[in-house]
Amino acid sequence: MVDVNALGVEQNSMGWRFDNSYSRLPEIFFAPAKPAPFGAPRLAILNQRLAKELGLDFDRMSPEAVASLFAGQDLPSGSQPIAQGYAGHQYGNFTMLGDGRAILLGEHRLPSGQLVDIQLKGAGPTPFSRRGDGLAALGPMLREYIISEAMFALGIPTTRSLAVVTTGEAVFRQTRLQGAILTRVAASHIRVGTFEYVSARQDEANLRLLADYTINRHYPDLVDLPDKYLKFLRAVIDRQASLIARWQLVGFIHGVMNTDNMAISGETIDYGPCAFMNAYHPDTVFSSIDHAGRYAYGNQPAIAQWNLARFAETLLPLIAPEQKEAIAMATEVLNQYPALFEQYWLAGMRAKLGLLNEEAGDLELVQSLLDWMQQAAADFTNTFRDLSADELPSGDRYEDPDFRAWHSRWQLRRGRESRPSTLAHAAMRGVNPAVIPRNHRVEEALAAAEDHDDLSVLHRLLAALATPYEARADNVPYQEPPADECGYRTFCGT
Ligand code: AMP
Ligand code: MG
Repeated sequence: MVDVNALGVEQNSMGWRFDNSYSRLPEIFFAPAKPAPFGAPRLAILNQRLAKELGLDFDRMSPEAVASLFAGQDLPSGSQPIAQGYAGHQYGNFTMLGDGRAILLGEHRLPSGQLVDIQLKGAGPTPFSRRGDGLAALGPMLREYIISEAMFALGIPTTRSLAVVTTGEAVFRQTRLQGAILTRVAASHIRVGTFEYVSARQDEANLRLLADYTINRHYPDLVDLPDKYLKFLRAVIDRQASLIARWQLVGFIHGVMNTDNMAISGETIDYGPCAFMNAYHPDTVFSSIDHAGRYAYGNQPAIAQWNLARFAETLLPLIAPEQKEAIAMATEVLNQYPALFEQYWLAGMRAKLGLLNEEAGDLELVQSLLDWMQQAAADFTNTFRDLSADELPSGDRYEDPDFRAWHSRWQLRRGRESRPSTLAHAAMRGVNPAVIPRNHRVEEALAAAEDHDDLSVLHRLLAALATPYEARADNVPYQEPPADECGYRTFCGT
């Protein structure tokens, strides 16, 4: 048999199956981009379970070879590195962007046949880098790894994290930091901003190509339907309504819901200054640059609708030949969003409260619990978890007569359910997490990794986050809110 080069053999034995359908789109959609050379890459973390799900096996490779692979130094055979073009409304302002510090290696075909994007984040400048260096620091890349894997374990649609490597080179922000690259796995990286990018060029032929490509990849049931672009809009709105409801139900705050950070696939994407809320308050904001609270917890549902309106605008030329008619059709679909969102959210809240029936007063019952939590500064996650226990919640906070009054109403309401309460509680424990990535725990894990090269704290945190619905003795430390988080701030991962 003819000898194949050694690297090729090693690559193929890993299980990569690249397709690269995005690179076959017209050139306006991307620019070729090569990862920068990095002298001394080292593996910080590899997601073995995800690798297995992807049909990939790195066990027979040396640690150096694995580090080199995830630093973009030895590209997998069949990959074709590009940077994707996109635009976006950032804090409401339209800008042409593109992958300034991310390189798409291509799409890997899963054992199931589904395609997933394999992207290196922080692998050096691309033609879209503008004044940026194209690099990323270890802390923010590990942060994305932690939060995205936590979201996955919670059952929320999200991009995944396959590996983080340090590059061996420094990146300069306010201070000197260790450079790092995250390997991100996504259903795709097609964003609202991708549509805005083609729309801004008034290029209807390519807009149609992008829409068809996206429908094929993410909404294949629509391919042959009449009015498919209007149905596409409706389907994207539906997935976003469901996604944002899921965020609200666990207290996840994305932090930077610009239109370039909203994926058409319906996955949570671009983890930057995101964080989970502790004490319930709709105005909660962690991002250091979100002064006006545009992306506050309570604003997320409305911001999603605003973003979806920008998406709808891009599709108008495809929806109907007459603009007036297209606007009327798109508006009608967009106007369904608030009700759709509420439907998903209320269904989720009923589950959190152990309710199977639907009653007219349920919304008000939920709202009055939230009102109490807000005035009592009660921990969002733990309150729901405490309500999921078989015994009455204990602690000073629950002595509050306002809480007692609410609890009695809830008990009355539950009296009209046929499910025995022990079963209801068990079901509640399956939807009300005991463990979320608490900000102080995330910071502690990042500090150990960044300052002491100690990844053990991170691994313990990840182990607790992998089974969020189990309250075990060993994950008790991860269930507690911080003693004081006044002034806790998150920063964009730049
Ligand atoms: P983000 O806030 O991470 O969603 O990024 C917004 C835009 O800025 C995207 O187009 C990024 O590619 C770009 N960007 C962020 N950081 C950098 C960087 N260090 N170098 C180049 N481009 C960047
Ligand atoms: Mg982004």
